[in-house]
Amino acid sequence: MIDFPKARAKMVEEQIIERGIKDPRVIAAMKKVPRHLFVEEALQSQAYNDHPLPIGEKQTISQPYMVALMTEAMELKGKERVLEIGSGSGYQTAILAEMAQEVFSVERIRSLAIRARKLLYDLGYFNVEIKIFDGTYGWAEKGPFDAIIVTAGSPDISQPFYDQLSIGGRLIIPVGNSDVQDLFRITKTEEGMKKEDLGGCRFVKLIGRYGWEGE
Ligand code: SAH
Repeated sequence: MIDFPKARAKMVEEQIIERGIKDPRVIAAMKKVPRHLFVEEALQSQAYNDHPLPIGEKQTISQPYMVALMTEAMELKGKERVLEIGSGSGYQTAILAEMAQEVFSVERIRSLAIRARKLLYDLGYFNVEIKIFDGTYGWAEKGPFDAIIVTAGSPDISQPFYDQLSIGGRLIIPVGNSDVQDLFRITKTEEGMKKEDLGGCRFVKLIGRYGWEGE
């Protein structure tokens, strides 16, 4: 039997804290959320390893460090309304639910969305709403958002995301080609768009109207 809490504590120490993640709320959330429950049973022994894992439908749960880096970049204090594009396994959604007031998440693949919804509900995350739709449109009716996180690689910064940010709001998005991207933090200010490059990354494709074309 694997000691999951112990594996999780080790993951947070070696992959998150030692690599420079400082936000105590990100660290606390990653210590708490049982990541192994977000992958199928056969992969649970690898859930705390330093890499992404398949979640079915050719999609992946992101590497723990990438989740931490992106979440820290959102600068959440607890009262925010946030939007996630790409619910996938629901793991990043759970981290956000720990750290913000309300989490809206959009997933285009029905089977993934349904599984994530059920798991999050079973774990007691009642401040989450998941919609099955093309998330490149954002979720205008629920905006504006204090932070938006896109967990799939985009060809561009799609206009709906920027439009749905509140002033001071942050958009965390991987932008590049379908193979490698750079992670950007876009901040909406009174003076316009502020853009910061947070480094290289590798995500599955954001597929939709303002993303890549589907297969
Ligand atoms: N945050 C997820 C990562 C999942 S991988 C996790 O922690 O598990 C990226 C996800 O984005 C996939 O599930 C994929 O289906 C989804 N996706 C891709 N394009 C999308 C779009 N236009 N709208 C919504 N979801 C999309």
